[in-house]
Amino acid sequence: MKIYNTLTKHVDEFIPHNKDLVTMYTCGPTVYHYAHIGNLRTYIFEDVLEKTLNYLGYNVKRAMNITDVGHLTSDSDSGEDKMLKGAKREHKTVLDIANFYTEAFKKDTEKLNIKWPEIVSKATDNIDEYLKIINALIKKGYAYQSGGNVYFDTSKLTDYYQLTNHKIDEMVVGVRKGVEEDKAKKNQADFALWFTKSKFDDQELKWDSPFGLGYPGWHIECSGISLKYLGENLDIHCGGIDNIFPHHTNEIAQSESYLGHKWCNYWIHGEHLNDETGKMSKSKGDFLTVNLLEEKGYNPIAYRFMCLNTSYRKVLVFSYDALDKATTTYNKLKNKVLALKPSSLLEEEKYKEYDDKFKEYISNDLNTSNAITLIYEVLKSNLNDSTKYELIKSWDKVLSLDLTTLESNNIDIDEEYIQKQIDLRNKAKQEKNYQLADQIRNDLAAKGIILKDTREATIYEINTNISHN
Ligand code: AMP
Ligand code: ZN
Repeated sequence: MKIYNTLTKHVDEFIPHNKDLVTMYTCGPTVYHYAHIGNLRTYIFEDVLEKTLNYLGYNVKRAMNITDVGHLTSDSDSGEDKMLKGAKREHKTVLDIANFYTEAFKKDTEKLNIKWPEIVSKATDNIDEYLKIINALIKKGYAYQSGGNVYFDTSKLTDYYQLTNHKIDEMVVGVRKGVEEDKAKKNQADFALWFTKSKFDDQELKWDSPFGLGYPGWHIECSGISLKYLGENLDIHCGGIDNIFPHHTNEIAQSESYLGHKWCNYWIHGEHLNDETGKMSKSKGDFLTVNLLEEKGYNPIAYRFMCLNTSYRKVLVFSYDALDKATTTYNKLKNKVLALKPSSLLEEEKYKEYDDKFKEYISNDLNTSNAITLIYEVLKSNLNDSTKYELIKSWDKVLSLDLTTLESNNIDIDEEYIQKQIDLRNKAKQEKNYQLADQIRNDLAAKGIILKDTREATIYEINTNISHN
């Protein structure tokens, strides 16, 4: 597989440390509010990446954090803790806010067919891990205590900016938005690992530490959780492009200084979803959530389809017009797939040919739009319906567009067709062609039609509850 690597600024061949188990870390949500559909675009791309690796035969161990402490309103250590802000807004505790929005995020991911990572860990559950790293960084001379906080000393690194095009000058106060002067820092690019002093004394969650009662910085959370669950040699680290600096830059600085060796080889970033006015944000008026789309009558999967039609590396501009178009195209495509009447044996050679093409597209820097075009090619081709259906069903393991899933209200009960299939299956059984008999049964099952062999005859039931995989 080839993938664009922010670290090398090239499309690189993907070579994992251990080909039997790929490790992947994805930065999780800050659970102080609903995720907007921009955030979810990033999770969709990460989901496609994980499923692509699976499709190409890799086992993937993936971890994600839930940020429930330490993420300040400005990424450069100033401003209020976002969680505290959420709690004040809703007159609840930080814990209540975290639980509520973690659950809401999980529901959004389910609606978008985003697989929940194997390991999901709350930032507040790993305090010991951060303290272990911070202690070691102080001992090694990479971190210092000042003004009550612990900071990472960026001047100790020659390649602090390896992931980004930022220049030291841009960290000077007044040059970059969100950079406030912090007199406790030796260098303005230094970042906090542990806070005991912030402007906001009423920080709700604090822990004992050798540096005083306090709480971790945001960046150390991801390093800590990743190192704890995925080990010292990470293959892939993902996030949205806004994470490149300072978040991922700081993660590299602290993790590699702690480990004493290179940490992660592939840094993969998704471009943003913008609205027509520019950047999407949680504080803007029409705050675009999955719930809002549903309230307006949209199927969340049509949004996923819209995302997959554009490269994850290109800006996508959201408009209801664009979503309307995506919805129409998606529904037409799905209807075409559901109209297929698989009833013969797979054309195995052709199947492999098309499937290889699909693999070629997705392994070329996740070219999902070409993969979708290939579905149309298959539908137009002279392959038999079984081969078309099985190909699309298989590709949907990566795309997760529910293309072969029936909703309870659109099961098309074509009794004549079903009876014909039952007769064909009985004939196949008589001729001892059990492969064909099984395939007919499985194809019908995939369409929600379950065959039951009774003593008298074969009957069928409609199952409205089928899941896609
Ligand atoms: P947050 O909950 O703010 O920590 O962000 C969660 C994820 O969404 C991070 O990986 C961000 O990089 C990503 N993200 C933030 N804004 C956007 C956007 N407009 N489009 C796509 N991804 C975004
Ligand atoms: Zn992170």
